[in-house]
Formats: sequence, C-alpha cells, structure tokens
Amino acid sequence: MSSSTKEIRKVVVSGAGPAGILCSALLLARNEEEDATIIYDVTLVDGRQDFGALSKEELSESFRSWMLGLANHGMDSIREIPDLYNNYVKGEGVELEELNLYLGSKKITQGVADDIDTSNLDAFIVDRNFIVAALARYVRDTHTSNKYYTAMYDTTCQYVDYENKQVLVRNVQTKKEEYIPYDLLIGCDGVRSVVREALIKCHSDFTCKVSDIFQEFKAVHVDRPKELSAKGMSLLPNIFKNCQGIALPETGGKVNISIGVPRNLYEELDEELKSDDYKVVSKYLKENFKAFELVDYDDYAKQWVGQRWNQTGMVHCNKYHSSKMNIVIMGDAAHATSPSIGMGMNTALRDARVFYQLLKKNKDDIEKTLPQFSEERVKEGNSLSSLAFNLYCLDSKMQTMEVLHMIIRTFLHKKFPKLVTNHPQNMIGMRDVALSDVYDLATRLNIIPKLRARNELIQHQYFEKLTGMTKPEKKKYTGAIISAFVAISAVMIALIVKE
Ligand SMILES: Cc1cc2nc3c(=O)[nH]c(=O)nc-3n(C[C@H](O)[C@H](O)[C@H](O)COP(=O)(O)OP(=O)(O)OC[C@H]3O[C@@H](n4cnc5c(N)ncnc54)[C@H](O)[C@@H]3O)c2cc1C
Repeated sequence: MSSSTKEIRKVVVSGAGPAGILCSALLLARNEEEDATIIYDVTLVDGRQDFGALSKEELSESFRSWMLGLANHGMDSIREIPDLYNNYVKGEGVELEELNLYLGSKKITQGVADDIDTSNLDAFIVDRNFIVAALARYVRDTHTSNKYYTAMYDTTCQYVDYENKQVLVRNVQTKKEEYIPYDLLIGCDGVRSVVREALIKCHSDFTCKVSDIFQEFKAVHVDRPKELSAKGMSLLPNIFKNCQGIALPETGGKVNISIGVPRNLYEELDEELKSDDYKVVSKYLKENFKAFELVDYDDYAKQWVGQRWNQTGMVHCNKYHSSKMNIVIMGDAAHATSPSIGMGMNTALRDARVFYQLLKKNKDDIEKTLPQFSEERVKEGNSLSSLAFNLYCLDSKMQTMEVLHMIIRTFLHKKFPKLVTNHPQNMIGMRDVALSDVYDLATRLNIIPKLRARNELIQHQYFEKLTGMTKPEKKKYTGAIISAFVAISAVMIALIVKE
C-alpha cells in the first residue's frame, strides 16, 4: 500500500520517559515498514524539557537522576530498533564486572562472570536520565523533519476529554492551553498518570490501587572512592542502624550511593541522620560509614541534608486499556513499583515493544490490539509490582529465614538442577523468563503468600498506630530490615558458596 493511500491515525503519547519515547520511536519506525496499513502521526507530550537537546556534559553536571539496571527485558526492547541501541544507548552506562558485599568494613568480592551465565544477567548500570536522553537524541536525529512527528516538551497533559477524544495540554512556560485531538492516546506519564484518571472516570470496572513502597531513602552522587572498582556494584547491608545501602557505579568517576529505611523504623533512625546540619552528618559519616573511606565526607553530607527523604509509588491496575476511549497505559503509569528488583524501566520498555509487536501482528488494527495488550501485560505489570514488594519481608526474622531459604535453594539447585527448582530471585530479568513465571513460582513455593500476609499486617499496624486507631504496641519489630538489599546480598553469598 502506498503511503498516499494509507489512513492517518493521530496518536498522542503523554510522557516522554523511557516507555513514551520508545513507544513513539517504534510507531514512527512502523510507518516505514512495508506491511504497515496506516500511518501513525505521533505527538509526544512531556512536562519536562527535552533531555535529547542537552549535551552529555550538561546532563552529567545538572540532570543526574538515579542509577538503574538495564536487563535483557529492556535491552532487547531497545534493540528492536538496531540503530537506537548501537548508536545511542550502547556505551551510556557501565557494564558490571564485579559485585561487592560489605559486612561492616569486610568486603567480599565476586566477579560477575565467575559463576554466572552473563547472557542472562542484568549487568548494565545507567542513569535513568541518560537513557531518556539517549532515546530522545535518537528521535530528534531521526524524526525532527518527519511530518508525522511532533514533539511538545515543556507541555503537560492536563486532562483527557475522552468524550471528544482530545487532550488538554498546557505549555509550562507560556501557560498557553490547547486541545489536541487523538485517535489513540498512550499514557506513559508515570506514577501520577493523568491518562489513567480517564480510565478511572469512565470505567466502573477499572480498578487501580496507588500506594507507596513503605521506604524512605536518600541518594547521593559522589566521587568514587579509590577502593571501589569503576565497574563494581556494592551492597551495604545494615550500613547504619535499620538502614540498607547500595553503591552503583556511574560514568565520570562517580558513584551513586542510596540508603533507605523502612517507614515503620524511621523514628528509630540515629538522630544525626535526620539533622539539617551537614557538619553533624559529616561527623556521623566519618564515625559510622565503615564500608569504605569516602573521598569527601562534607560533599556527601551536604547532598544528604540538601534533599528531603524520598518516597516512590506503587500502582496496580486490573487492565491497561479502554476500547471505548481508545486509550492504553503502560510503564509506571500502569505498574510503578519499588526499585528492589530493578525491573521497572525494563518492564516499561518491554510494554512499548509488546504494543508495537501486537500492532504489527494485527496489521495495525488498534481495536483488536488494545484488549490483547491488557491480556499480555496486566499479568506482567502486576507480577512486577507484587514481586518487588513481597519477595522481601518487613519482619526481620521472616526475612532472615527467607534469605536462608534462598541460599540453600540456590546451592541445591546448582548441585541438582533437575531435582531442586531455582529460587525465584535468581530468575528475575532472565531472557525468556516472564515476570509472571517468576511470580507463579514464588507463589507455588509459598514465598509470596507468606511474606505478603506479614507485610500487609505490618503496614496496616503502622497505619493504625500513626492515625491513632490503636495505641502504641510494646513489642516492636526492632532491627527489621527490610529491603531488597538484604536479599540481594543473599544471592551474592549463595553465588560465593563454592560447590
Ligand atoms: C531509586 C529508583 C531506582 C530504580 N531502579 C531501577 C532499576 O534498577 N531498573 C529498572 O528497570 N527500573 C528502576 N527504577 C524504575 C524506573 O525508573 C521506572 O520504572 C521507569 O523510569 C518508568 O518509565 P516510564 O517511562 O514508564 O515512566 P517515567 O520514567 O516516570 O516517565 C514519565 C514521564 O512522563 C512525564 N509526565 C508525567 N506526568 C505528565 C503529564 N501530566 N503530562 C506530560 N508529561 C508527564 C514525566 O515528565 C516523565 O518524563 C527505579 C526507580 C527508582 C525511583
């Protein structure tokens, strides 16, 4: 079919994060494919500036975000456009070569390739904004003069007028508002998605739970200590009382150190960590940060006091589309979650790829594709959010038992792979292993049901106490450590156990 005879579909993509940009790039790539039956006229809207227009120096100096692991689920999605991966994304991050576990000042090191099948390992660490910038740079270079692509940065999606299939947007600089009509609206606008609100308003059978990850955390970007390898990830269990930490390598001689505390233990934190005075924090760090010597304690402390405690959200939805409104949601808009298993962006990128693949399979029949997208992705998104939260326990004793279970199971699985099933933790992010497969296994092994029941109880009890529904209990979950890092540590220990 020649392009002049093809019908045009106006697609509005709300949100130019990893999911939104990759989805836009894939739809524009689809326009060039011989079997495409329609033309996607894509408008990409984002409230922030276009990171693709910034130089790498500007990004590094002023727009660093959090470091994240790009696993096969995400890498393979980006590779759907080979140029995008080869010329823009490759080389943006750090390929992991070393895993370190610090127990106090004692360091245990494991080479990534020593015992592990690296073809199945999440080993690429990159700043979230660097990935976004790389994707955006590709779209700018490839499609700026494409008449079927419009970029609207510094513009927020305010409201979905679904009855008239149009979106109200506002430029954050000029405050000018306008309606953009759509045939298909793709909500990639993150955890506080405006597009998702339309599904809530329009469908009484759409259920959506927005909560948070029950953690408070702070992250700093500091000069890499001499002792740390430029390609090493370091786990810092119990770095301070009730706190877990992780140090992820960055480009430019830096390291991103994140430290978190479960919400119910925040009050028990050492007071110095709550101080606004960087000198107090710096002194505390010098005395208590045992893992390795920091290059500049004051710099770390200034960054620490210069930010509030961060939280991040969780989203569970029972479907990701509306055929009535021609809307689909993906990425964090559909399934934001705790970073504990490092799969949020990977799943967001995979959503975009699956949506493109379904359109291709269905010869661009959007009506047919929307329910199929929900069918394929709702189980993945919900498995993602549930695994990330409930593979770990807010009760320290139960968490310790689960870590032991993981060590023993990992060891036995290595010895007798046909007799003993692998631990679900070890399967996350592997190529060809869906998150719903991991969830299914974790459920059959009674890990998820057991830990979820405990986690829900602890959160509920915290809420009851906080609001005054119940009086403070005498018994506390002291020392309950609860973060992903403990369990990741266990994987490392398990790997270190020589057969
Ligand atoms: C500390 C931390 C560590 C993480 N580590 C990992 C990891 O190791 N591995 C991993 O895979 N994932 C990780 N994640 C998760 C990952 O960052 C997210 O899952 C991923 O960024 C989701 O991509 P997205 O495109 O769906 O949404 P987002 O990245 O949230 O992007 C949404 C975009 O929408 C825009 N937007 C929002 N509202 C509007 C609006 N109304 N109008 C217009 N634009 C709007 C925003 O400006 C933003 O650009 C981590 C997250 C955190 C917080």
